[in-house]
Amino acid sequence: MKEISLETHSRVEMIDITAAVQKATGEKKIESGICLVYTPHTTAAITINENADPDVPRDILAVLDRAVPLSANYRHAEGNSAAHVKSSLVGASKLVIIENGRLVLGTWQSIFFCEFDGPRSRKVLISIIAS
Ligand code: ZN
Repeated sequence: MKEISLETHSRVEMIDITAAVQKATGEKKIESGICLVYTPHTTAAITINENADPDVPRDILAVLDRAVPLSANYRHAEGNSAAHVKSSLVGASKLVIIENGRLVLGTWQSIFFCEFDGPRSRKVLISIIAS
């Protein structure tokens, strides 16, 4: 297992972690397999989407903010229920195929760490299984 540490700087934010995940994958020196990208936090998530146009992650965050408002008579006393709900909607992990030692991603795809309750210190765990 490899660990990526990151600092987030906003309440909500999507950070492209593709290069760090590729580096962790390359260090395993396997030809083909599966890479699990997982975040062990209840108010964050992992997703894959376009990073060529920075408006795409902005739009995703804006839609999530509209769909899951910051306050909506939530019961959770910590006051960050919106972040918990977004974490479950987007999901804590993604699997990516590895071929020829590289992550198999589409031309426009990047792997994003999604912050929903920042700023905080966060980590992403990478586990690689050879096939
Ligand atoms: Zn909470």
